[in-house]
Amino acid sequence: MNSLFDFPTDREASSAAKVRALEALLIEKGVIGSDSVDTVLQHFETMAGPFNGAKIVARAWVDPDYRQRLAADTPAAIAELDLPAGMTGAEGEHMAAVVNDDDVHNLIICTLCSCYPWPVLGLPPYWYKDPVFRARGVREPRAVLREFGVDVPASKEVKVWDSSAQIRWFVVPQRPANTEGMSEAQLAALVTPESMMGVALVAAPAAPVALTAPVA
Ligand code: FE
Repeated sequence: MNSLFDFPTDREASSAAKVRALEALLIEKGVIGSDSVDTVLQHFETMAGPFNGAKIVARAWVDPDYRQRLAADTPAAIAELDLPAGMTGAEGEHMAAVVNDDDVHNLIICTLCSCYPWPVLGLPPYWYKDPVFRARGVREPRAVLREFGVDVPASKEVKVWDSSAQIRWFVVPQRPANTEGMSEAQLAALVTPESMMGVALVAAPAAPVALTAPVA
C-alpha cells in the first residue's frame, strides 16, 4: 500500500507521538479526563468496527434472502442481527450495502472528505482520506484497484460509490472458494475491512475447510 501513496515511513509513529502530546495537554488543561481517550478507543475496539461488518457479510453469504434484504434496506437488515447497540449512531445513520458478484465489483470512496460507515467498518484508514486516492478512485478505479492487488477483468463492471453525509456505503465482497463447509463465524473471520471497501478480495482458504464439529 505504501507504493500507492508517498507517505513518510515514520508517519504512524509521529502521529502517535502528536496524539500523546495533545492528550497530555488536554488532560492538563482539564478539557478531558484521564480516561476519555481510552473510553473512545474501547468503543472502537468492542462496539463499532469491521467485526460487525464481517458478521453482516457472513450472513449475506449463507442466506441469499438476507443478502437481498441487506441490499434493499440495509439498516433494517442490520437490525435483524445481534450486533452491539449504536448501529444507527454516529456515522451510521444512512448506511447502504452494495453486493459484489460475477458481473460487478464495487469500490467505495468519499470524494469530499472521508465519510465512512463507522458502526460496521470502524474508522477509515489514513489513505482513505488521501486526496490522490479520492481523485484517482473516481478517474481510474481499475488502475487504483490494480495497485491494491485487485485485477478486475474487463468483462466485469466497476462501480464507484461516493460516500457522503447522506449515504455511507460498504461492500459485500464475493464469497471465496473452498468455504462451502465453513460456519458463519468461520466465514466472518475471513472478511477484512479492505474487502468491505472494495480494495481487496476475500482470500480463499488453500484447501476446502471441513465444517467444525459443534462445541459440546
Ligand atoms: Fe466525507
